[in-house]
Amino acid sequence: MNDGQLLRYSRHILLDEIGIEGQQRILDGSALIVGAGGLGSPAALYLASAGLGRIVLADGDTVDLTNLQRQILHTQERLDQPKALSGRVALAQINPEVRVEAITSRLAGDALTALVADTDVVLDCCDNFATRHAVNRACVSQRTPLVSGAAIRFAGQLAVFDSRQRDTPCYHCLFPEGDDIEDLRCAVTGVFAPLTGIIGAMQAAEALKLVAGAGEVALGRLWLLDGLSMEWRSVRFGHDPSCPVCTPAGVS
Ligand SMILES: [Zn+2]
Repeated sequence: MNDGQLLRYSRHILLDEIGIEGQQRILDGSALIVGAGGLGSPAALYLASAGLGRIVLADGDTVDLTNLQRQILHTQERLDQPKALSGRVALAQINPEVRVEAITSRLAGDALTALVADTDVVLDCCDNFATRHAVNRACVSQRTPLVSGAAIRFAGQLAVFDSRQRDTPCYHCLFPEGDDIEDLRCAVTGVFAPLTGIIGAMQAAEALKLVAGAGEVALGRLWLLDGLSMEWRSVRFGHDPSCPVCTPAGVS
């Protein structure tokens, strides 16, 4: 680290649990953020300000006026621009040392798998179950940790999955695909602006802890926030031995 970096990251370096070594791991680390919206905005801002070396920001949408109520990566001046490009501008303004790759198409298939294989941690900040399950499959197959967040109306959710560890559940164990869970879109149901900030910031916290090797992340636990009462509760869940994603065929 040079003098500028020692200053910029001094408040992390002061923390015993991070220190010089942990901050260096952050500088050498990388993350894929799927979705540059309400959750991806605060997550990306914190990962960039904290100095994560490489951030891949993927979003196929463009900035709309209805996004600006909560998607704090974007600005009035960048309306109609691809969100991934708008986000890259915002991150460069906070920390030009961070390498940001903007993906302006919806990630799927081999492109998704290749990106997941090439990053230390994935943050699922998207708004639909098809993408969530595709991201989960890629994370399980590439053994890349996944920090999943969701926010709708006044309700927030957070869960961390780490398929590098044996017998830990994946996203599909918790929310099986085809369970007729309807996509609840903010466009239809509404969402409380700071709720996305709370959950997205928590996703950044868990991702940074994973990269820095600081503390522990809670696996097999779904955190639920009721934003109206501001009460948290958590639900434990286990590995589903019949899960087709994380259990190899013939093994249970
Ligand atoms: Zn599973």
